[in-house]
Amino acid sequence: MSNKSTFYVTTAIDYVNAEPHIGHAYQKIVADALARWHRLQEKDVFFVTGTDEHGKKIEQSAKNANKATKEFVDENSEKFKKAWKKLNIKYDRFIRTTDKDHRVVVEQFTEKINKNKDIYKGIYEGLYCTACETYYTEKDATNLICPIHHKPLEKLKEETYFFKLSKYQKFLLDYYKANPDFILPKTRREEVINRVKEGLKDLSITRSSLEWGIPFPQDKKHVFYVWYEALINYYTATKEKGKEKFWPANLHILGKDNTWFHTVIWPAMLKSANLPLPISTFNHGFLTFNGQKISKSLGNTISPITLVEKYSSDSIRYFCLRHFPFGEDGNFDEQALTDRHNNELANKLGNLVSRVSTLAEKYNLEKAEIIESKQTIQNVSNHIKNLAPDKALDEIFKFIDKLNTIIQDKKPWETKDKKVLYQTANGIKDAAILLSPFMPETAEKISKTFNFEISLKSLNTELKISKIKKSDILFKKI
Ligand code: ZN
Repeated sequence: MSNKSTFYVTTAIDYVNAEPHIGHAYQKIVADALARWHRLQEKDVFFVTGTDEHGKKIEQSAKNANKATKEFVDENSEKFKKAWKKLNIKYDRFIRTTDKDHRVVVEQFTEKINKNKDIYKGIYEGLYCTACETYYTEKDATNLICPIHHKPLEKLKEETYFFKLSKYQKFLLDYYKANPDFILPKTRREEVINRVKEGLKDLSITRSSLEWGIPFPQDKKHVFYVWYEALINYYTATKEKGKEKFWPANLHILGKDNTWFHTVIWPAMLKSANLPLPISTFNHGFLTFNGQKISKSLGNTISPITLVEKYSSDSIRYFCLRHFPFGEDGNFDEQALTDRHNNELANKLGNLVSRVSTLAEKYNLEKAEIIESKQTIQNVSNHIKNLAPDKALDEIFKFIDKLNTIIQDKKPWETKDKKVLYQTANGIKDAAILLSPFMPETAEKISKTFNFEISLKSLNTELKISKIKKSDILFKKI
């Protein structure tokens, strides 16, 4: 990853025809933890998330709900915002593809591509799944059934405008070669390269069969294809005053079903518009919930709001970040969540803070040589660089285990050893600051108990002696 002092991270923008579920939340939690980590490193951070609001599927969903399309997207977009608020997702911009500035940027972007003679009019014939808003080839869709929705595909034939994607095959292959971190994790990279080598078809970028979209400026019978314009949102956000410095993005986070759009179509579009390409895309796997695929159409959605109310926001964040190696598919198993909440958060972290603060209230602290955390900080930092938050949390909890062991061995409740209390309190400070990107609420509570600031400076300096009051219970056992 680049060493520039800015960090721009994006998530996929969610399609608003469904309610937010834990799969959407998982991705936002990872992006938020990364954004918070870079803020802690005093980088200038820009974190953008939002909602994707155009297309036939939304037009239909609004009709089915007996609502005006705009009203429908306004309501649903709000649900995503509400869920992210519950989870402490601290984005800098929530972009909606119905925002006015997005429409203007899409027009300008397309104008650049058009000047480069990469847009032409033609006829598109293909097999279409409305639920995916995607055309399939017979090769990808066995028996003409959508591989995702298991519903028959529609044969569609329409006048359309094409983007000359085929022109960029060589450019893309050269780019992947020169930028090995462009497609992460590496396991997805070969897949993309092999498919691009097979050749690229030009991309239909407009539709004339629907109205709910951004009008195509050159031909008002057409609106932009939702996928084409949605990708541009990442760039739109940086056209805001003062945000220009953030382009190109450091990292696009997306689900592996969107890999083709982000690693083939998007870089070709940017190249055609003569704009710099993002540094990395991270294409993560999917979560199942208690062993079942999460999706609206399969009737198995799970609300992050319900989970937060039951377990707390930090507990959900912690579980998502620690339980799943980022990138792979995972199963959101509620029993595993309860176990980690009880054994790791309540027993290990919660008890440590409670014990040390209770004893410090009684006996006070006395300065002593601190327990070194430099290696832990270095390891955590490396794991974050490698986009492995699970390993970063393993490191922090190794350090927490060490503090617990010291307390067990030295028994300050018998010895009234103020120095041991200082050493562990200082260790708790370091652990809490390192945990702050992952569990911001908990870190904040701990910082108030032990009177330190959550900052890089505070991580690198020793805890000041102060009057300590015993902490409230951080995690109630479930
Ligand atoms: Zn489909």
